[in-house]
Amino acid sequence: MTDSRRHIPRTDALLDDPRLAPYVELMGRGPVREAVRAAQRRARDGEISPADVPDEVVRSLPGGGPREVINATGVLLHTNLGRAPLSAPALDAVRGAAGTTDVEFDLETGRRARRGRAALAALARAVPDAEAVHLVNNNAAALVLAATALAQGREIVISRGELVEIGDGFRLPDLLASTGARLREVGTTNRTSVADYAGAIGPATGFVLKVHPSNYRIEGFAATPSVGELTGLGVPLVADIGSGLLTPEPLLPDEPDAATWLRAGADLVTASGDKLLGGPQCGLLLGRAEAVERLRRHPLARALRVDKLTLAALEATLTHAANPAREALAADPAVLRRRAGDLVRRLAEAGVKADAVDTEAAVGGGGAPGVALPSAAVAVAGSLAGPLRTGRPAVVGRVEGGRCLLDLRAVAPHRDDDLFDAVTRAVVAACG
Ligand SMILES: *Cc1c(COP(=O)(O)O)cnc(C)c1O
Repeated sequence: MTDSRRHIPRTDALLDDPRLAPYVELMGRGPVREAVRAAQRRARDGEISPADVPDEVVRSLPGGGPREVINATGVLLHTNLGRAPLSAPALDAVRGAAGTTDVEFDLETGRRARRGRAALAALARAVPDAEAVHLVNNNAAALVLAATALAQGREIVISRGELVEIGDGFRLPDLLASTGARLREVGTTNRTSVADYAGAIGPATGFVLKVHPSNYRIEGFAATPSVGELTGLGVPLVADIGSGLLTPEPLLPDEPDAATWLRAGADLVTASGDKLLGGPQCGLLLGRAEAVERLRRHPLARALRVDKLTLAALEATLTHAANPAREALAADPAVLRRRAGDLVRRLAEAGVKADAVDTEAAVGGGGAPGVALPSAAVAVAGSLAGPLRTGRPAVVGRVEGGRCLLDLRAVAPHRDDDLFDAVTRAVVAACG
């Protein structure tokens, strides 16, 4: 310790290091000095070697790239943590697609081809009930495209119980209205009938929009028509399922899926790619050929098109049944409990006080509000929450009753060693 301490570069020397000069110029000395001190601390604690201190400072400053996080929050799809982690095949696909590829080119004929046709074909295969499919940047973009192409200057009929705020202040009604479509709200917060919809439909109607309340529930004296009941109103029915389930998921019986809603008569279904589907951020549009084609041909579609990396990751996600989001959803609580017990034992051997506790995990903003998934966590001192969060990799748990719970449901089993290391490092940082 004393020996390595002597070799840790001094603050003044680091602030004059040419590698840090651009940051000092951009940010001023204050913030860079903070980063320098944090890196020096890590070197003193033996987490990094003294020679790595300048690199560590650069890594921790903005522009150092996103920090890897082990999601121990117990929220499977955490929007702030990037929602679904990609599967290994999806990661490989991204790597393979990073250079120049045939994303929009037919190598047989030497001509231009439909962009992302492999991903589109995989999506069409996964949902045979869809006559056609299209992809955009996210579900919000799918709704914007539908509203623009089908209802600009006209009305979107929507229940007052389905005026959703997705998060960070983004409200679907505002998003839809920004396209130049007018919202025609019907019913009340808790109850809307088919007659309410029918009474609002007229020559100005662009479409009826059904939105799955994916992050809240209205319980008690509540009723809203099913998708099936909203067909036959003589106007297109667009349905936002949110979560991205393509087919029914037995573990989440109340969560809608694209195939079921299409079979029930929806003309267009929109969904996210990075929620329960477990893929990259993108927006899925599935439905009747005519409606999908109108969206695809609209000039706005070009501004919402997905990049080649996303297309590659989505195709791989669709062609491999397993992915981390699905595995977390399907995790056996007994196995989670055993993992928590093992970690607690190892931590005890390392002199760290921890307990295995039963917890309840949640799917998250991505879907299934109110569904509690039985889970298990390693409970450590609440004072470790901060050091865990700022460690590398960062570990984000949840603080409850003064303790930091590291919920294992969203942590891939092969990361348990990393979690163990992170906790022992956090103890050193908290005590140092
Ligand atoms: C998550 C969600 C959205 C937004 O999807 P993004 O892919 O984040 O744009 C829209 N509608 C519903 C019902 C959702 O659950």
